[in-house]
Amino acid sequence: MSIDSKLLEIIVCPQCRGKLNLEPESLFCSPCALEFPIRNGIPVLLIDSAKKRG
Ligand SMILES: [Zn+2]
Repeated sequence: MSIDSKLLEIIVCPQCRGKLNLEPESLFCSPCALEFPIRNGIPVLLIDSAKKRG
């Protein structure tokens, strides 16, 4: 699953506005430790859909 690199440059964490790290099936915000799912190639940047890691 890949996401357009230009899209990745403009999307940020909805909670802290930080940069998101692309992982195979999710986008991960390290400051928040929140993992946002990618569904059908579309990142779901909703805090309600995010999973807290750790
Ligand atoms: Zn964040």
